[in-house]
Order: sequence, then structure tokens, then C-alpha cells
Amino acid sequence: MKIFLKLKDIITSGTERIFDMLYCENCMKPVEAGRCPDCNRKKLRELKPDDPVYLITKDATIGASIEDILRQNNIPCLKRAELGAGITAYVGYYHETFRFYVPHSLFEHAKELLANFFDANEDQDEKAGTNAP
Ligand SMILES: [Zn+2]
Repeated sequence: MKIFLKLKDIITSGTERIFDMLYCENCMKPVEAGRCPDCNRKKLRELKPDDPVYLITKDATIGASIEDILRQNNIPCLKRAELGAGITAYVGYYHETFRFYVPHSLFEHAKELLANFFDANEDQDEKAGTNAP
């Protein structure tokens, strides 16, 4: 029983402190030390495994594929419209771009999935480029 508790302590403390990284709540990204290089903010806190971190920015069409891929792999994602809702209504939904965020603990996995996705679609993109006027 005692050993079991000890093991649990080790596992718990291991998940709470990862790499000694800090987190900027303003930019939603991991920061190594000191202040955030993006917003210059000094008010940083310890990075937790479920903190949402910025993954990628894509338009509505590719964004929908990204959402599908993440959902199929059980990676929860947070999607934020880059333009405001008012601007979107004016320019149209498909001009909207979205910023995607995933939990830090799943970030590397998500990045890998997207790399595979974009590799598989690279040929199509090139064709689309040459057909453009
Ligand atoms: Zn920041």
C-alpha cells in the first residue's frame, strides 16, 4: 500500500512539472523563461499538460480538415476566428482564418498528424498553383 502511494506521488508530480516551461496566458504559448517574446509579458505561470497551445492558422476549408483529423485522433482543439464575426459576415465565411490550439501534452502528436496531412496534400496544392492564372 505504501509503495503504491509513493508511485502515485511520483506520477502526479511528473505530470505537474514538465520541462520547467512557463506559459503565457495572453499568447497561449509555452515560454522558456523570463518574459514572453511575443507580447513582452512578464506575468507567466507554470506550463500544465492541458494548457492550450497555439498549433496553426488556416482558412475555413483546410480548418475543417484539421478539425476532422484532430477529432479522429481524440485530440480536443480550440478554434478561434482571427477576424471578428462582423468582418466575417462582410467578407464571407470562407475568407475567415482560424487559429487552432491543442492541449500541450498532445501538441507533438497533433503536429505530426498535420505534417502527414500536408505531405499527402502537397501534390494537389502544386497542381492548384500551376492552374492559377
Ligand atoms: Zn505572450
